Amino acid sequence: MTEYKQEKKRQRKIAKIVVKREDCIGASPCIAVAPDAYELDEENIAVVKSSWKNHSDEEILLSAQSCPTFAIYLYDADGNQIFPEDG
Ligand code: SF4
Repeated sequence: MTEYKQEKKRQRKIAKIVVKREDCIGASPCIAVAPDAYELDEENIAVVKSSWKNHSDEEILLSAQSCPTFAIYLYDADGNQIFPEDG
């Protein structure tokens, strides 16, 4: 039981990141926090990089929290929205 709990803790919770393009203003603190997770495209909008899993869940959560317009949405493997928390 204890081992099971520890394993659960090790598992990633964040399964998907979505940047709402219409909300992104290219301010890029997300990139400063998680440079392997985002880059700006030619329109100066953040896009998610395939290397985002190099970052821990904590770093990804921080990056989403750092976005001034809350353009970054995080989901778990079941599609439940993790952040922003108000759903
Ligand atoms: S922090 Fe938010 S607004 Fe700034 S680039 Fe990232 S997603 Fe876009």
